[in-house]
Amino acid sequence: MTDLLLENESARKLIKTLGLPIPVPERLERAKGPYEERPLDDKTILVGGHGALQGVLAQVLTKAGATPWVVGKSDSVLEPYRGPGEAWARTTRRIEPGDAPEGERVDAIVFDGTGLETPDDLHQLYEVMHPWIRRLNRSGRVVVIGRPVGDVKRAAIAATRAGLEGFTRSLGKEIGSNGSVANSVFVEEGAEDRLGPVLRFLLSPRSAFISCQPFHVTKTAKVGEAPETHVLGGKVALVTGAARGIGEATAEILAAEGAHVVCLDRPADDGPCSQVAQRIGGSVLLVDITDRDAPERIANDLKERFGGVDVVVHNAGVTRDKTLGRMKPDAWDMAVDINLGAVVRITERLLQNDLLRPGGRIICLSSVSGIAGNRGQTNYSASKAGVVGFVRALAPQVADKGITVNAIAPGFIETRLTNAMPVAIREVARRMSAVGQGGKPEDVGQAITFLATPGAAGLTGQTIRVCGGALVGA
Ligand code: NAD
Repeated sequence: MTDLLLENESARKLIKTLGLPIPVPERLERAKGPYEERPLDDKTILVGGHGALQGVLAQVLTKAGATPWVVGKSDSVLEPYRGPGEAWARTTRRIEPGDAPEGERVDAIVFDGTGLETPDDLHQLYEVMHPWIRRLNRSGRVVVIGRPVGDVKRAAIAATRAGLEGFTRSLGKEIGSNGSVANSVFVEEGAEDRLGPVLRFLLSPRSAFISCQPFHVTKTAKVGEAPETHVLGGKVALVTGAARGIGEATAEILAAEGAHVVCLDRPADDGPCSQVAQRIGGSVLLVDITDRDAPERIANDLKERFGGVDVVVHNAGVTRDKTLGRMKPDAWDMAVDINLGAVVRITERLLQNDLLRPGGRIICLSSVSGIAGNRGQTNYSASKAGVVGFVRALAPQVADKGITVNAIAPGFIETRLTNAMPVAIREVARRMSAVGQGGKPEDVGQAITFLATPGAAGLTGQTIRVCGGALVGA
């Protein structure tokens, strides 16, 4: 998609005068190919903090191929790494707190803040990160791990835990110009064994456009076997709006992980939808999701051809922008019915008679507009905020079947939808993020695919922004 700034010198000057970042797309390293056994091969990861997760981190990081450097005052901090380090042939190294040897650099920093209890303890964040943050390589990663705020009664502990999220959101905005991102993960007590896949995702290039986002790892949904490669082998996935944009990219990535993808789009989009399905060895389902008989037709088709479905991606969506006073009723009805009404009706139908099989995954497309609001988008934001409420309410109701329900809220992603924006608004909007550029459909596809994997069982009821750390609103 064209970017005025990269092509037109006077536009470039104007945007510079306005103080907006010039996008440098090659600064974001993106994943190539399917899930690997050792996604962190040759990555040096600084590990700091003194929480309860040292054993889990040692296991997950070394198994994924990383070389951990552990911050601590004595060699006892290396103890948890001895067994796993030898098993996966990774040599660990101790780093003195507050010290960063001349010329050394790291690819990621992981901070275990599960042991922090008082505001004074937050100083450990400073002590571990300050010497290293300017030694973080391009497309670097920071992951700050803590315990959930809601799990404690003492307000001082809750305050300390909450501090981790604010720290990470600000840090993400500081390191974005280097293509680096920072996210926080809050792990419920007893859910530690569900952290691994989340960490592998957040430390890998698959999370290139996710920053300043908290993740909550819980015991809510029942968990099953979770392979690390070919993660969707044998699964059937339905993707609505698969003819182009985010839906097309998602269908491709799901298929690359072994899923059979049913590509759904409107009958008028038969051509592009069939091309996608053919390219990825999937099937086609032509339905307008707002038709009253759509839920029944989709359910029957999935039952007859596949006996059910494992992954449902509610991606089809439209904008019909106008300020409320100027908005025609059909523009309101259309956006709300496609983006929310149809999602609710189809989901309710697929949950009948276990058509969505146990261990299933539902992923709905929300939007940063649904979280922060946006001028001219009252209809769109109502529908996308509705999606946030829908996944939150539905998640606990289906958790005992091992089904998870989440939403993805993209920021500015380069597709037909954003190409339809007025030029001036588009030029500003696409670079209003910590990483200073719009995302690609595949960035959203990667996040959706991760939520679709068995390993993502720890995440449910959540809305994950894929917005490069949007600078406005959310
Ligand atoms: P897109 O316009 O490129 O693709 C949307 C697809 O949905 C199209 O193929 C379209 O034919 C299909 N569709 C629309 N109405 C349908 C209906 N009634 N029945 C069946 N199919 C229908 O859009 P996109 O940018 O890829 O957006 C995908 C999703 O992501 C949408 O839900 C959108 O709201 C959301 N989103 C996108 C962005 C962005 O920046 N592009 C930002 C936030 C959220």
